[in-house]
Amino acid sequence: MTMLLYTSALLVLATLLQASVLPIPQLSPEPVVAIHEPLLELKRVKAKSGLNVITSCDQPNTLAITFDDGPFEYTAELLDLLDRENVKATFFMNGKNIGDITKFEDVVKRAFDSGHHIASHTWDHKDLSQMNEGQVRWEMTRLDDTFMRILGVRPLYMRPPFGYLNDAAGHYLASNGYKVVTWTIDTNDWRHPRDIQASMKFYRAQLSSANANRRGFIALQHDTKADTVRHLVPAVIKYARQQGFEMVTVGACLGDPQSNWYRS
Ligand SMILES: [Zn+2]
Repeated sequence: MTMLLYTSALLVLATLLQASVLPIPQLSPEPVVAIHEPLLELKRVKAKSGLNVITSCDQPNTLAITFDDGPFEYTAELLDLLDRENVKATFFMNGKNIGDITKFEDVVKRAFDSGHHIASHTWDHKDLSQMNEGQVRWEMTRLDDTFMRILGVRPLYMRPPFGYLNDAAGHYLASNGYKVVTWTIDTNDWRHPRDIQASMKFYRAQLSSANANRRGFIALQHDTKADTVRHLVPAVIKYARQQGFEMVTVGACLGDPQSNWYRS
């Protein structure tokens, strides 16, 4: 009888344990976005247009940390940090996105004068894969002209918003000498802006000495996120140095001299 009771108790316990580990449906904190394969689509556009698409660094043991969607209110703070750490980075800037470039002209100039690589992320961060060539031209030249006014140069490196291009955009960018930069590490910091460890895991996976394919990396995050600037970037700098990586601009990690980064 005691044995029976004991067995029944065990069964009840096992059932309870099983119930407690059943998956609980998770609600996404971010709007659910459709799963795209921007890099695969880019490959196709590249093959058709002859576009120069850069996804990683040529120089071994280099890490190009890149920031999209600024300038914004945390960009100056990021520049302070990069100065203190003596790290050069790359900024894919918008004209009008979360911020307005005309309100941050001194920040843009300061980043450029400090030797950071300034590149285009289009005027207002629209999806270029939905545009015709004339619309793509407008997106690029409106921002190029603004950079020309602020910096005296027009960037030749660009990153399409969301990584999306169509053939018209590919043709326009290729025939106007733009170099398209994607990424090897996407931190997805916008999906979990307060959880820097979730972003760090992408760095750890690639930069770790356990990764047999260690080489030069281009990493994507956003200077529009306070925690990225204040917590993720210091953690990345520390980790990359521990792993023996040199943090340089996209131009430098390709061995491309600074005179090729811009035109007037
Ligand atoms: Zn963006």
